[in-house]
Amino acid sequence: LLCSIDTQMRSLSQCVAYPPEAQMDGTQETYPDCVALSATAEVPVSVYGARAAAAVELLRANLPIPNGWAFAADTVRKFGRGEFPESWPVSTALKNGVMVSLRVSPINRDWGGPETLLNIGMNAARHKDLIDTLGQEAADAFYLRFVQGFAINVARLDAEDFDAILDRSKTDAGTDSATALAHSLAYYESEMDMPFPQDPEDQLRQALRSMANAWNGASGRILRAARGAPADAGLGLLVQEMVLGIGKGEFGSGIAQFVSPTTGTVNLSGRYLGQSQGRDAMDTTKTAQYLAQDKRGPSLEEACPESFMLLQRYGAQVREIYRDEMQVEFTVEDGQVWLLDATPAERNVRAAIAIAVNLVELGLISRDQALARVAPRNLSEVLHAQIDPKAAPKQLAMGIGASPGAASGKIVFSSPAAVAAQARGEASILVRVETSPDDIRGMHSANAILTERGGINSHAAVVARTLGLPCVVSAEDISVDKRSKTITLPDGQTLKEGTVITLDGSTGQIFWGAAGLVEPKFDGPFRQFLAWADEVREMGVRCNADTPQDVRMALAFGSDGIGLVRTEHMFYDPGRLTVMRELIFADKAEDRIDALNLLLPMQRGDFQEIFALMNGAQVCIRLLDPPLHEFLPTTRAQQKALADAMGIPSSKVSARIEELSEFNPMLGMRGVRLGITVPEIYDMQARAIFEAALEFTNATGRSITPEIMVPLVSANHEVELVKSRIDAIASAVQSERGVALDYKLGVMVETPRAALRARDIARSCEFMSFGTNDLTQMTYGLSRDDAGRFMREYVNLNVFPEDPFRSLDVDGVGELLLMAAERGRADKPDLLLGLCGEHGGDPESVKFCAEAGFDYVSCSPFSTPIARLAAAQAQL
Ligand code: PEP
Ligand code: MG
Repeated sequence: LLCSIDTQMRSLSQCVAYPPEAQMDGTQETYPDCVALSATAEVPVSVYGARAAAAVELLRANLPIPNGWAFAADTVRKFGRGEFPESWPVSTALKNGVMVSLRVSPINRDWGGPETLLNIGMNAARHKDLIDTLGQEAADAFYLRFVQGFAINVARLDAEDFDAILDRSKTDAGTDSATALAHSLAYYESEMDMPFPQDPEDQLRQALRSMANAWNGASGRILRAARGAPADAGLGLLVQEMVLGIGKGEFGSGIAQFVSPTTGTVNLSGRYLGQSQGRDAMDTTKTAQYLAQDKRGPSLEEACPESFMLLQRYGAQVREIYRDEMQVEFTVEDGQVWLLDATPAERNVRAAIAIAVNLVELGLISRDQALARVAPRNLSEVLHAQIDPKAAPKQLAMGIGASPGAASGKIVFSSPAAVAAQARGEASILVRVETSPDDIRGMHSANAILTERGGINSHAAVVARTLGLPCVVSAEDISVDKRSKTITLPDGQTLKEGTVITLDGSTGQIFWGAAGLVEPKFDGPFRQFLAWADEVREMGVRCNADTPQDVRMALAFGSDGIGLVRTEHMFYDPGRLTVMRELIFADKAEDRIDALNLLLPMQRGDFQEIFALMNGAQVCIRLLDPPLHEFLPTTRAQQKALADAMGIPSSKVSARIEELSEFNPMLGMRGVRLGITVPEIYDMQARAIFEAALEFTNATGRSITPEIMVPLVSANHEVELVKSRIDAIASAVQSERGVALDYKLGVMVETPRAALRARDIARSCEFMSFGTNDLTQMTYGLSRDDAGRFMREYVNLNVFPEDPFRSLDVDGVGELLLMAAERGRADKPDLLLGLCGEHGGDPESVKFCAEAGFDYVSCSPFSTPIARLAAAQAQL
């Protein structure tokens, strides 16, 4: 036995068994078919696979790796055809009584591969020898594992039959290996019509061929294609001398990870099982030991402190080699610790951030390397509550995940019901066919929003993202009936108001009942990580925030400024809505002025609060955008209530609604068109902004330059008209107050014409902010509110690579952006460029903007950290 771990045998030289040929990566460089593992061996991942390369890397650091041989992917293809070399050094080892293991070494570990085979070389003669050296029990265990592994994975006999044999061999003291072995050998012989193969070389050849074929078989190909592997994905194989995890003394095997997979903090975790081999310790039906001393049960540290110390030492070395936290597979052989493999430690996003920060602090990686290690999109896992991975809720339907995070609550079907639920202290989920501005209060009160219709940029989705609420839209399998207050499922079942459900706004899943949730946590490493992102990035990241409450959130998420205040959202509060409606119903100019005079202090108050909160940072306020009918009641009952409140006949209300109705309101009387035809509204808004800015100056002694943004322009003359009125208001306020004020006028580029005419429009403004929600809608001729109906199918069929409302269509809309940026800056190189559509929170779109030289993107508060990291990565 001892000769099997003789160090002399661990330094077998390289061998070349076939004439060299061009390798699979297409280069002309040639590599041997088989390389003996050594510190000096050249074992590129692209030729021999990731596991073999890892073994050599560990050997270079003098770590104890069992002797072995790596087979190139091209060689493995030949094994599949039954072509084997005449002689190879493995033969010498096998002849010398060494048992070997056979493991896959795919070019990319994520591709998986067939199962490991242990104890190749076991046969009756060796069994007898081992009985003499290690005893009957150990010898039986070695042979039994090999016979069963070979029978199932190489001879392809049914695993269940061997499970039955093991079951039948169970005694009160555990499995009787001798009985199980005898039955397994007999079963093999009867099924295969031949005795179990005894020649170690023959065993190895059969095993190599079978692994090569399993890799190339249909199910292997399908499995790895699902994991992103190319059709010609290569498989290297690794044969290593067995280190014995079974014997007299401290023998065993296990897996160790040196940091917590959920927090990333230093915390040795893993499992160890004495007298075991391979990954036995991971078998949860077995009672494994802890690694470090633990009150809950026995540990390796207590059983063999020396092994434990070695394991910890090796763990630290492995971290230094890979400059990452790793998980190691190890075997203890008579107290000695052997490493079999090292793979990146398991981690969630929170842990990934903590690990990256810690590695920088240890001097193992640079700040930039740390920033590159976390995908920005994954940050949403840290920013929002998630369904506990241990919970297994039952799915009831599926929609499109439109605002990330998870929440549970009782379903309610109206905005007042959501408000009432909140007043009772109950969590609710607002369920609507679609939401409208009337639902704003309910959306503020609910814990999540579910709509039967709508797309990723529908009203519900946009508002939910601003509020940081989970939202699922376009759940078209369900049917929402607000009259009967029920949801009908495809199988006819109905859910009544009050039924508890859980939404996952990241995946679009809807579950029965209250699933366990994991709450978000912004810990020190998270803040440090984002502070580094801020040091690196050159592009600004602002927030879309409509109310002082949103602004507070924007600040908490590290926003540089506010890139879009949608002022219409300030009018949806019930008190203000009534005044807005009075304005809409006013027949005479004086009545309009009265209503505007009431709205002025409300707007000014909001702006004052926002300016104070932002304390001098840039704030960009958009003048009123939506068509006026959005402020009017939709149901008959609401219309009657409005008529009562205003003391006018119901018929007048319905007539005005009729007057304002449009066939295509999104292409109608809205944005700057409304600003030009009903100019008093913009006048009032400009005055509110200027007066609030002067209040800030009064209070702080510092001046600010608010940005005023005109929506939906398509011609320079529109901007000129608005600008002349705003200038007049600015002059009026200046002379009333006797204080100079400054402001910047900008436009939203939301129509293709505005993009085309950017050079012309830039003459009248100082900044342009791309409203990519409308610009996408108008470029595709695709309603952002209706796209959800077919978008999933479109993406599934690959008609669109991705929902263009989610991730910027760089080929089409992106080209318009680049063209407009170039034209806009042609005569005005310092024209400020930003983007404030929902794409501002999408990492790929942020990267696009950074590369295009934009000054900032503006996104919902909760997306700010994602955009900060994406902007930093664009700079790496
Ligand atoms: C846009 O169109 O991209 C935009 C930001 O404006 P809104 O979503 O309010 O139409
Ligand atoms: Mg818009």
